[in-house]
Amino acid sequence: MLALQSVGKNYMGEQPVTAVKDFSLELEEGKSLAIIGRSGSGKSTLLGMIGGISRPTSGHVLIDGVDQWQLDDTRRADLRNQKIGFVFQFASLLPSLRAVDNVALPCLISGKISASEAYARARALLDRVGLSHRHDSFPGQLSGGEQRRVAIARALVNSPRLLLADEPTADLDETTESEILNLLIDIHRALNVTLVVVTHNPEIAARADQIIEMRGGETVSKKAGSSAQITGDAIESVNNLYEVSSEKAANEKVRLGEGVEAFVGRFVMWIVPICVIAWCINWAVADYERTEIQAKAQRKMALEELAMQGLRADLKSVEFGEGKSYVVTLYLRNTKGDEPLYVMSPLVRGFVQVGTSWLEVPMKSLETGNSQVLKVTGTKLLRYEMVPDVPDFTQLLPYYMHVRLTNDMLISPRSQPKDDLVERNDSYYVYLKPHGADDKAILSKMKFPGKPPVWIPMPPH
Ligand code: ADP
Ligand code: MG
Repeated sequence: MLALQSVGKNYMGEQPVTAVKDFSLELEEGKSLAIIGRSGSGKSTLLGMIGGISRPTSGHVLIDGVDQWQLDDTRRADLRNQKIGFVFQFASLLPSLRAVDNVALPCLISGKISASEAYARARALLDRVGLSHRHDSFPGQLSGGEQRRVAIARALVNSPRLLLADEPTADLDETTESEILNLLIDIHRALNVTLVVVTHNPEIAARADQIIEMRGGETVSKKAGSSAQITGDAIESVNNLYEVSSEKAANEKVRLGEGVEAFVGRFVMWIVPICVIAWCINWAVADYERTEIQAKAQRKMALEELAMQGLRADLKSVEFGEGKSYVVTLYLRNTKGDEPLYVMSPLVRGFVQVGTSWLEVPMKSLETGNSQVLKVTGTKLLRYEMVPDVPDFTQLLPYYMHVRLTNDMLISPRSQPKDDLVERNDSYYVYLKPHGADDKAILSKMKFPGKPPVWIPMPPH
């Protein structure tokens, strides 16, 4: 189904980066692959090349034997629409549409089936992901986990044969995360969809057929997962979701058509012409709304690509500050060349692990001129002061604090966005050496080439 042959990707720019090196892989139809590895190891880049979003610098990506990067843009977009479903790292639902509209969208856009069939499919998939009571809710009314379930249903609505998920649970709490990842694996098994998932969760990775660990753009280890038993959820029959019967589809009412039938029933005789007019208006409005929805969805997709590809955000350094404080430096890098990107009020928060929970610690921006909208061309550094003064922190690594930083941003190509705004939530994890820690004691437990570092970056988890 999927074959990568010596795929490589270099990013040019001030400092050229080799994100993926000479990567080869084969994945059979219906199998699953988990990719693990720390931040910056090339996982997203790899997924982007598989998914037809980011062009490899070398090598081939074959899907069912077709080298997708040899196709022209239109044919590649078609292939992507028909065969590939994406679940992104960040919430990417349209806030002004109900859950069911969000799920039906990719079908409405591809236009291969009727709107009523698309809605029937969307409803069946929402039921499948455990949201039978949430069809008509708007994204803002749903929890993070529920939003992720909607995104999974949406990724499945065009019956893709390959499902790509890039850290789909990065911003969720542990329990919800496991639920969502298990759901992904169950669905992959039940529907026989080939799955590639980037995750840091080792238990979930072990449920995949293959696990690859990446470092510096290369595979450092490859092993078979346990392919453990299918959980209860998936054993329940799936009723072939992809073939919603036409009867069911016919019963499905598209919102705008409601009401017209009842009206006709009551005033059959003389009201017919009025009905015809009403129907025409109804049809025109529905058609207008559909075109609007499609245009919106296309803009949203372009934005998602921009947020995923156009902006790099990561930790640059953490240094000791005054007293018990630390100075945390983040960078934002616009990789789109000359076109500026606007990042609205990034909200950066810090947490220290205590027991099994995260305790929020004081964090404040050190930037002057407190502008709400940052114009990013090239690289922008943002500095924060963090005071993680927590006495009884958990020591996963002897003496070190386990710290999580979250960064919530709204990104737009315009300084005064209207609906061209996309949300992104990043998490960074580090081990942090406490102020006044005894370097000798640390060195007696762990080896470092020199002095124990102030911070050690970790893969996301
Ligand atoms: P991961 O998903 O494992 O965190 P990525 O694929 O996002 O890793 O990144 C791999 C490397 O490529 C990193 O060093 C990153 O900084 C770099 N990189 C990723 N995307 C771009 C880009 N659009 N422009 C320049 N460098 C990039
Ligand atoms: Mg990534």
